[in-house]
Amino acid sequence: MPAADEPLVFLDDALPKAESPVGRPPWRLLVVDDDIDVHEATRYALRDIDVLGRPLVLEHAYSAEEAFQALSRPNDIGVILLDVVMETDDAGLALVDRIRTELGLRQVRIILRTGQPGQAPEIDVIRRYDINDYRTKSELTRTRLYTTVVAAIRAYDQLHRMDESRKGLEKIVSASNGLIAEQGLETFSEGVITQIASLIGVPAEGVVCARGGVSRDEVIVIAAAGRYGRMIHSRVSNIEAPRIARALLECLEQRRNVVTADSVTLYIESQHGVAYAAFVDSERPVDAIDCDLLQVFCSNIARCADNIHLVDELKRQAYSDRLLGLPNRSAMLGELDRHLGPSATPAEAALAVLDIDQFSSINDMFGHRFGDALLVAAADRLRSHLPNCYVARVSGGAFGVLCPQGALAEARIGAVFDAPLEVAGIDHALSVSSGIVRLKDVQGDGGSCFQNAYIALKRAKAQGAGHSVIYTPGMSDEAHNRSRILGLLQGATSRGELFPVFQPQIDLAERRVVGLEALLRWRTATGELIPPGDFIPIAERSALILTLGDWILRQALDALRHLARHGHADLKMAVNVSVVQLHQPDFIERLDAALKETGVEPGQLELEITESAAALGNVQLAPLLGLLRQRGVRIAIDDFGTGFSSLAYLDKLPADCLKIDRSFIHQLDGGHGTPITDLIVPLGHRLGMRVLAEGVETESQLRILRQLGCDGVQGFLLGRPMPLDELTGWLTCPAPAFPAC
Ligand code: C2E
Ligand code: MG
Ligand code: MG
Repeated sequence: MPAADEPLVFLDDALPKAESPVGRPPWRLLVVDDDIDVHEATRYALRDIDVLGRPLVLEHAYSAEEAFQALSRPNDIGVILLDVVMETDDAGLALVDRIRTELGLRQVRIILRTGQPGQAPEIDVIRRYDINDYRTKSELTRTRLYTTVVAAIRAYDQLHRMDESRKGLEKIVSASNGLIAEQGLETFSEGVITQIASLIGVPAEGVVCARGGVSRDEVIVIAAAGRYGRMIHSRVSNIEAPRIARALLECLEQRRNVVTADSVTLYIESQHGVAYAAFVDSERPVDAIDCDLLQVFCSNIARCADNIHLVDELKRQAYSDRLLGLPNRSAMLGELDRHLGPSATPAEAALAVLDIDQFSSINDMFGHRFGDALLVAAADRLRSHLPNCYVARVSGGAFGVLCPQGALAEARIGAVFDAPLEVAGIDHALSVSSGIVRLKDVQGDGGSCFQNAYIALKRAKAQGAGHSVIYTPGMSDEAHNRSRILGLLQGATSRGELFPVFQPQIDLAERRVVGLEALLRWRTATGELIPPGDFIPIAERSALILTLGDWILRQALDALRHLARHGHADLKMAVNVSVVQLHQPDFIERLDAALKETGVEPGQLELEITESAAALGNVQLAPLLGLLRQRGVRIAIDDFGTGFSSLAYLDKLPADCLKIDRSFIHQLDGGHGTPITDLIVPLGHRLGMRVLAEGVETESQLRILRQLGCDGVQGFLLGRPMPLDELTGWLTCPAPAFPAC
């Protein structure tokens, strides 16, 4: 074909000369022609020219195949000057097809050149293959060629920019999405560096600093990536890279982005009065597209920064107590977790939970405003007396104090509230109980630590107001055992694991069995026999005692009916009741219903109330006991001598029987009465009560009790607690002999 081609002669028109701009990448133009002269002429025509401020570099291919190979490799060719007729008549057109379809190159602009007008492609081919221009070689004077190439470069540049901005915007959207999910300012800022670097296509090397917020007027580095990592948390004025410090400060002062030949510093302002400057090494001047994109990024990212502030604020509120400005329970849990975590060094630290005694009553009596003022004063006292400790409010009237030295905690904490607290100008003596746990005694996390402190606190409270107890690991075992038992006990009735036993009570004057005491027994599914002393107190702390109480009462009344049918109609039945049962508003109605349904006379039933229970609730209890006695139900005071009875109130407590606790009976073995038993028998009689001794095991005990004038006895000597069928036999044959009676 070269022979058919008209020789190219370019007129030497005046064209803009390239000014060899530094750092601006050149435009690349691929000349594809099988005529060497054409290459030469094109090179000559386009030499030293500058298009849109960038130089033009020519690349050459001498056949369609060679061009295809060149274009198959990664390249940034923007324009192709393509001869139509090469290896074949339509080699050029065939190449266009492969460029657009096979290689998928859509941005590159193609200018077709041909020797003859007759070789021009059809219009629809031009459209289909997105051909920019078609010229016969004769038409291409140097100026014409220049304008054609410039137009093609412009078109390419626009397409390229559009594509780059689309990609950039996509990146910004995904960057913002990533950053919105960030949890803290530091990670957010690190993310900003990474995203800026990725937008301009360089490694993430940079720093972010902030002014305002917590840092106030100081400009502090809040994130640093890559080789600047060590600058984190420094003041910008102190960092050892003047060009970075200069860029950051200029950016913040002038509130605008600062772009230099090798860096970009973005200005990001949040709505909360905090301004950030993000410096990234760009290695080269950032071009216009990138600058535009970074601008969009900045405004987008400012919103993310606002979000971070919001989240930080929410976090702050979630972890602090508004009234006292102290960390709250959740914050303290986190702090404890840090002290107990795998990376924590075993320390001598201790946690104390301090609870203001009767805080809710103080609130009720003096009002919430006073309660608040009291808490504020207490918090101030704790802060000032325990300056090295972490103090938190962990519940209404309780504080958590984490002391670096356990010994210090134990020694000092009790004394913190020795001096009265001044509230509203008046001095108040404050009683505080505390539970202390040494962190080395904790197995587990912050939650376990709290739990242990509360176990100790509970113990302290049980000792009365103002006490302090140090946790020991054994306490947890007890607590765990208690909760294990409660869990097991919950299904015990339905599984048939509970059963009643009955222990005979003997009247010493009549020398015969006059009554029985119903006692609860629990054999678990594994065959373990759990004594009532181990499970009744646990049941009493939950509503379970009500179910158990109803159940044993019904069992006892049914047993009386059963015994009556077997010839023992004159027996009385003693049933233990817990004070929790007595406080039920409908206790009497339920009791009446049980008596009615079983047909048992009220006079056959005796309710045993322990002395300590009776003493605790005596104010409300006396009228209730009065009502019960009006119905004929008898009342016995159990375990007498161990509680806190005072003679004054015993006088007011309506009861029929005093049961001397077995601990006093065991002391009788010396052969004569002890002062306490000596006293109890006449005391009971003086108050018009029968006196019954429980736990009688020896004949000598029995003899002394008889001498003392005791009315009745109960104990292993006379009869053990027995299941109903065993008891029925025991009562009938043979008649029990009570030798010493
Ligand atoms: P309690 O009411 O004082 O019952 C007498 C306890 O003394 C019973 O213990 C009985 O087995 C034991 N005992 C009787 N004779 C002797 C003796 O000669 N020597 C010795 N060492 N012990 C003797 P148990 O059955 O273990 O019951 C312990 C406590 O559990 C009872 O003391 C009572 O307070 C409570 N309890 C038992 N069953 C019930 C119940 O159904 N309801 C309530 N609320 N409490 C119950
Ligand atoms: Mg009893
Ligand atoms: Mg007793």
